[in-house]
Amino acid sequence: MPPTASDRSALARLADACVQCGLCLPHCPTYQDARSEPESPRGRILLGRAIAEGRIAAAEADRDDALGHCLGCRACEAVCPAKVDYGRILHLTRSALRAEQPPRRWQRLLEWGVGRPRVLDAGFRLARWLRPLPWLRNRLPSIPRVRPLRPRAATGTPRGRLLLVQGCVAAHWERPAHAAALQLLSRLGWEVDVLEPGCCGALHRHAGNAGDAARLRERLATAIASRRCEAVLHAGGGCHEAIGEAAGQLPTHELSAFIAGDSRLPGLRLRSSSLRVALHVACTQRNVVRRADADQDLLLRIPGLRLCPPAPARCCGAAGVQSLQFPGQSSQRMKPISDWYRDAAPDLLLAGNLGCRLQLARGLGSGSGTLEVQHPLEFLVGHLE
Ligand code: SF4
Ligand code: SF4
Repeated sequence: MPPTASDRSALARLADACVQCGLCLPHCPTYQDARSEPESPRGRILLGRAIAEGRIAAAEADRDDALGHCLGCRACEAVCPAKVDYGRILHLTRSALRAEQPPRRWQRLLEWGVGRPRVLDAGFRLARWLRPLPWLRNRLPSIPRVRPLRPRAATGTPRGRLLLVQGCVAAHWERPAHAAALQLLSRLGWEVDVLEPGCCGALHRHAGNAGDAARLRERLATAIASRRCEAVLHAGGGCHEAIGEAAGQLPTHELSAFIAGDSRLPGLRLRSSSLRVALHVACTQRNVVRRADADQDLLLRIPGLRLCPPAPARCCGAAGVQSLQFPGQSSQRMKPISDWYRDAAPDLLLAGNLGCRLQLARGLGSGSGTLEVQHPLEFLVGHLE
């Protein structure tokens, strides 16, 4: 869908908010690596403004992949004194780019598949069937076989009713974390309804596919509106904004952030642990959900548990589809982070973000049993008394 005149004027207006101070540059991973202006947030914002004003074609602006390289980590936005809405600038810029430059076939196939739960389900079944083949074993991550997730009643008198949005890929891979969250929420007195698997359109929006993103968001909004609940919960930092928009007036929370902020949490009785664990915090948890400390707050409630010093707050290279789009760069980004965790030698690595978890599992070779990577809520629920 080509950008409309109102998209272009929105892009120009948003880009105008940038005062070009450069305070975001030291926080941008692509600028730190390339040290060139087009690989910085300020440079990308200038390119966005030039595209909006028709001074440069989007494909020309992206000639060296300056727009494609952006990780969408939003570290720039979190430190910007002018409160520039970089996320929206990126989406509008990529949308303009997509109108000039059709996406690659794998990207189209991915977007088509994740937007269709039955296709995704069949794709996962096929991948599970093919994975034992020797040439695929190390290329495909292990895909769990899942049973449908059922709504859960509150323990005791319900305080209210929540709605869990399972998402698309997360409905398969985050099934154990979703089940753990339901158990914790039930113990905290919440009744939890569960929405059928379905995509929120975030993946499409990050890739500039505004049309499909809007269609999927609308579908999710209709599904949410058909349920009675007080708040919407989800497990994906990268989907936080899209789900929040679909939820409309209903408050939207990432699961760990919601549970960590629950007033009844201190009443939960947890068994002690003698383990030493490392905790990986995703960029979107820091910069979009803005609750970087949620998982740490939860884990520190386990008596005796020791946390390794945190790794540097840098992108691990997962960044949506970057590991497919720029596999070499993605692996380079992953290496210092996976080396950090390997050197820290924890008993277990915990990571709340699915993309980071799969990326780190690949980097650490957890498939071969070197270091297991788990969702913090799964770990926490294993310590419930
Ligand atoms: S989102 Fe991340 S990679 Fe993109 S410009 Fe901002 S800091 Fe740099
Ligand atoms: S995005 Fe914000 S921090 Fe970065 S140059 Fe513009 S005003 Fe400064």
